[in-house]
Amino acid sequence: MDLSYWLAEAVASNADWANTFGPYPEHPALAVDDARFGQAFADFTERLKDNYPFFHPRYAGQMLKPPHPAAVVGYLSAMLINPNNHALDGGPATAQMEREAVQQLATMFGYDTHLGHLTTSGTIANLEALFVARELHPGKGVAYSTEAHYTHGRMCKVLGVEGHPVPVDDRGRMDLDSLEALLRTGRIGTVVLTAGTTALGAVEPIDEALALRERYGVRIHVDAAYGGFFVLLADAPGPEGLPLAPWKAIAECDSIVVDPHKHGLQPYGCGAVLFRDPAVGRFYLHDSPYTYFTSDELHLGEISLECSRSGAAAAALWLTFKLLPPTWEGLGQALAAGRRAAMRWAELIEESERLDLYQVPELDIVTYFPVTEPLTLSTIDEASTQILRAGMTDTADPVFLSTLRVGADRLTANHPKIGADADGARILRSVLMKPQSEEYVPHLHARLEQLAGGAPGAGASPHRGA
Ligand SMILES: *Cc1c(COP(=O)(O)O)cnc(C)c1O
Repeated sequence: MDLSYWLAEAVASNADWANTFGPYPEHPALAVDDARFGQAFADFTERLKDNYPFFHPRYAGQMLKPPHPAAVVGYLSAMLINPNNHALDGGPATAQMEREAVQQLATMFGYDTHLGHLTTSGTIANLEALFVARELHPGKGVAYSTEAHYTHGRMCKVLGVEGHPVPVDDRGRMDLDSLEALLRTGRIGTVVLTAGTTALGAVEPIDEALALRERYGVRIHVDAAYGGFFVLLADAPGPEGLPLAPWKAIAECDSIVVDPHKHGLQPYGCGAVLFRDPAVGRFYLHDSPYTYFTSDELHLGEISLECSRSGAAAAALWLTFKLLPPTWEGLGQALAAGRRAAMRWAELIEESERLDLYQVPELDIVTYFPVTEPLTLSTIDEASTQILRAGMTDTADPVFLSTLRVGADRLTANHPKIGADADGARILRSVLMKPQSEEYVPHLHARLEQLAGGAPGAGASPHRGA
């Protein structure tokens, strides 16, 4: 789609609608002439160049990419009106769009019933889920794995509940024996399982944890902020299909968080929380004397902790889902391409003498490290940092990666040949969340091999970590 054409259409369609209300006076207080604007805009666009090329497959670092053009046009069109999805009166059309998009998310996870809404972020969405969890299990703690997003610990503090980090197995997923030992103490009311950890993309054993829910009477919350849309690949045909069990089990869990601003092609400002039991809406009840007046229907502001919230975010998601619905044939194809890219790169790294795979990618995150001589944590750390820097400062053929700090225990357990001369090391990490990465992987790999060849102590010996 031609973005400039549709952006102009968005402005025109807004003007058509505005004109139906008749003329009204302009006010000089807000007047800006085009010459002055042009100057400010020139400075502004110059400043924006201080960015990494998130759109380009050269950028294979963090979870960052621009929204789909449909989301941009949807967002801008609604932003010209600027509805507030806190209340139906704040934006009837976008509140309805939010309901429909959230229903699509609930269906994607297999929820038959739900109460849910969009949020500003995954962090706020998780806060809501943990808030409801606390109301249902007052005085009890929350368990999450040591690989869970760091904001779970923070939000437990905010909510005044005890957070309990649970150790992980050698693939970075919650260890269920440790969890069960903790549950036996009777101190836990809610278990958070992550479907796609932020660092490694590990999918925790949600299906197996469900058995513990019945035995210990706990709630299960699934943090699928990053990984949620991968449910579209569960049991899918082809090499990118994912094992069904943990994804299918999500439908049985008590609450889910997913971030459309990560894998849903949306701009920032779009998370979502879903509860399986709509009756939890009672915990949000409040009396707002000035916001609700047009209907007896439940306003979105009555079921969320936040007040003002962008209606444009809902509009963008709704319009995107019209074109690329959250189904395997729709958005699923974009995730499948990223998943294939990660598998392909992992294979190339396995075959390489200069790079080694940290662990087999479960979703679209690849973690790897340069094979240094000697092979120790400190040389791996130094070489990774140098490759990161050399990649992003090269002007002819740059490549943008990220690093991940891994503890000595985890790194040497999976790679016993590494000498443990430090308490951990930075390794390299690439999130391949753009479908365009699929075609670009051979180039990325060749570039990494070159960079690894130039790093200190790197590439001197063909020997590999185990
Ligand atoms: C990104 C992420 C979060 C936090 O979401 P924000 O939208 O960045 O606030 C929480 N949990 C997981 C697993 C994430 O990947």
